[in-house]
Amino acid sequence: MAKKRVVLTFPHKLVDQPITYHLIKDYDLMVNILRARVTPKEEGRLVVELSGDEELLDKGMNYLAELGVQVQPLAQDVKWHQDRCTHCTACIPICPSQAFTLDRQRMTVSFDKDKCIACELCLPVCPYKAIEILF
Ligand code: SF4
Ligand code: SF4
Repeated sequence: MAKKRVVLTFPHKLVDQPITYHLIKDYDLMVNILRARVTPKEEGRLVVELSGDEELLDKGMNYLAELGVQVQPLAQDVKWHQDRCTHCTACIPICPSQAFTLDRQRMTVSFDKDKCIACELCLPVCPYKAIEILF
């Protein structure tokens, strides 16, 4: 089974279309909505985890692109500014997906973009604004 975490940006004209329904029904995909937001420009943005057969997942992605939905990997929207991080560990207990981990021997924090679900819980606890979410 293939799995992708992506950010879907819907232009205003597509916001009320049953797109996730079609991904489920026509492409047999599991759609796990991690976040949803309508921006001030009235674009819709969804952070989703899509999983299913690899070929059907690709077809589902093509369906979205043909409709005019912008699809980009979630990792592109999440930035960890390693140069700002002081390894204070404040983000470690708060992160629900273990995207931040601590090497206890070296006492260094590392970040795995692929595990991040863009929940933003770490943003207010990081004293150095080392994590940025462009969502
Ligand atoms: S936004 Fe922060 S707290 Fe949320 S999953 Fe990503 S790294 Fe963890
Ligand atoms: S809270 Fe910020 S500074 Fe502290 S370890 Fe996490 S990312 Fe680094």
